[in-house]
Parts: sequence; structure tokens; C-alpha cells
Amino acid sequence: MTDRFHALVLTRDDEGKTHADIRELTEADLPDGDVLVDVEYSSLNYKDGLAITGKGKVVRSFPMVPGIDLAGTVLSSASDDYQPGDKVVLTGWGIGEKHWGGFSRRQRVRSEWLVPLPGELSPRDAMAIGTAGFTAMLCVMTLEEAGITPDRGQVLVTGASGGVGSVAVTLLDRLGYEVVAVTGRPEGADWLRELGAKDVLSREEMSQPPRPLEGQRWAGAVDTVGGVMLARVLAETAYDGAVAACGLAGGFELPTTVMPFILRNVSLRGVDSVMCPVQRRKRAWERLARDLPMKALGEIAHEATLEQVPELAGQILAGQVRGRLVVDLKR
Ligand code: NDP
Repeated sequence: MTDRFHALVLTRDDEGKTHADIRELTEADLPDGDVLVDVEYSSLNYKDGLAITGKGKVVRSFPMVPGIDLAGTVLSSASDDYQPGDKVVLTGWGIGEKHWGGFSRRQRVRSEWLVPLPGELSPRDAMAIGTAGFTAMLCVMTLEEAGITPDRGQVLVTGASGGVGSVAVTLLDRLGYEVVAVTGRPEGADWLRELGAKDVLSREEMSQPPRPLEGQRWAGAVDTVGGVMLARVLAETAYDGAVAACGLAGGFELPTTVMPFILRNVSLRGVDSVMCPVQRRKRAWERLARDLPMKALGEIAHEATLEQVPELAGQILAGQVRGRLVVDLKR
């Protein structure tokens, strides 16, 4: 392997515009860290879309290698926890935001951010899952911890065609829940049914501002959308139900009332994947290796090259990407 490799590099000009260019780097260009990873795959998430287009204040310093996920093989390590040849996955911890991230064939990172790949998961499988799928698993674990078992009734997933949503639909179905999906793309309803949704609701219906309490429909929900839709989901959640909220694809405001909380004992539980503690990360990845059928992942994930990433970044923000995008750094 030569010492030179390709990476996507973000810079910001004097007018504050973000530029994304593929550059040739060497290991000397990489940041400090105790583990050097041969990055085989990364993935494109909504947050990467914000970083690369400059639409969100995601990137804290420039130049920046974006990419909030990476998976590959350890090339060298100054940590006792990792040896050359180990397969590892890294999501969050601020990579692609304040530390250089996954859109680079090699990256130097901190060992405490890494998780050894569990079971039979390959680096490609791990990136088909990525931050989005990992977050879906955290949402499922959050509902389980709230006592939402499959016998309690239907569970709702919003933003269902997206990365988090599609993995959440698949996981919940495999775990025996009756899943209802919300999508703004009616043409994708059959695909959502194939993933495991028993019913599909329109985004329009679920975006109507709710009364403080509506009819009790959901034992639990995974919400990736926020805004009015989350307010409606809360108003429709059944007594003692729980909602795992992880996203803001529809807005960061929450125009709700206290009524679902004080009259129905509903709980709203936040889910963050970025600073998730290591032990919980390991548990989530082990659960993904066990509970997520790799065949289903084949339906969800599509491959892209590094060259395609800047264009796809705009598409993911426009809600035009279905499922997950795996970025093959070897091509
Ligand atoms: P995607 O873009 O893949 O999916 C988002 C989905 O939301 C879209 O596919 C679409 O689904 C739906 N959607 C898009 N725009 C709107 C809108 N205006 N109103 C209602 N629904 C909309 O993103 P991800 O799945 O990767 O992420 C989803 C959300 O979760 C994002 O906000 C992201 O920032 C957040 N997130 C948070 C994490 C955390 O740690 N808390 C980690 C990962 C993601 P459809 O077409 O089916 O309606």
C-alpha cells in the first residue's frame, strides 16, 4: 500500500461557503490518535449532508474530513486494546464534525472511540448499519427499557424510509412488534411492507396539528422527524407508552402540551448516538449482529463511491435517499 490515499476534504471560503474536494493525503496529514485504521467503508448520514453542503453548523473547524462513521481494519496501534488486523467500527464521538472522519481511506483515531466488530459483521455490514442503524438500535433498546413489549400493541416509526427509520422498522418487526410506518413517499409503501411494516400512514396525515390528546393508538414510537409530527405521536400514544425521539428531519421545535405526560403517563425519551457510552455501544452492536438479518440489510443499503458523496449529500437533505448509503473507500 502506498503512503498516499484519497480523502474528501471540506474547506470554507471568505464568504462562508463550504467546498468539498477529493484530495490526496499522506499519514503525516492525519490528526493525532493512538490507532491508525485502514478505512474500507464509511456511510452517508443526514448529518454528513448538513456538513458537506454547509447547511448546518455541523463542522467546527476547517479543513475537515467529514464522515461521522467508519469501519475497517487496524493498521497500527499504540493501544493495548487493539492489534493490527482487528476489525473495528467507529460512529459519532464528533468525528466528521470536530475530529477528522470516515471519508478517507486511512484515518487516525482514539482507541476509546472504537468498538470491535461483533459476530460475523463485516466492515461493509457495519457501514450498511452505520450511525443511522446504530441509532435505530438505541431507540429499540430505549423502548424495551421503558417496558414496551410486543404484546402492548402497535409501535410507530416516523421518517420510515430514511436510514434510522428503515432499520427501526426492520428491527422491531424481527423482534415481534407490530410496526406501523409513516412516510412522505407513498411510492415506497410496498418496500416498507417488505421490511416489516404492517401498515403505512402518510406524512400528511401525521403532520396535522393534534389536539392535546387524541385517540390512543401507539404503545410506543421511534420518532426521527420531530416538530408537529412528534407532537401528534405524543398525543396519540397510549397510557404508559413511550416515545424514543432521535431526530429532527421535520424540525427541531416541539409544539406539544403536558397532557400526554400528566394524564397518560407517557414518557418521552431522548436518544443520542454521538456521546453514547462505550458499554452501551458494545451492547447495541452485539444486538445488531444478533437481531438484524443481514439479508434485510441488503434491501436497505446501496453502495456509493467517494466521488458521488458531494452530490448525494444534497439528496439526503432533500429526503431523496431511501434506506442507507454505504461508501466504498476501496474504489
Ligand atoms: P434520512 O434523511 O435518511 O431520513 C429522514 C427521513 O425523514 C426521510 O427519509 C423522510 O422519510 C423523513 N423526512 C424528511 N424530511 C421530512 C419532513 N420535512 N417532514 C417529515 N418527514 C421528513 O436521515 P436519517 O435516518 O439518517 O436521520 C433521521 C433523523 O435522525 C435526522 O434528523 C438525523 O439528524 C437524526 N439522527 C439523530 C441521531 C442521534 O444521535 N440522535 C443519529 C442519527 C440520526 P419518508 O420519506 O419516509 O417520509
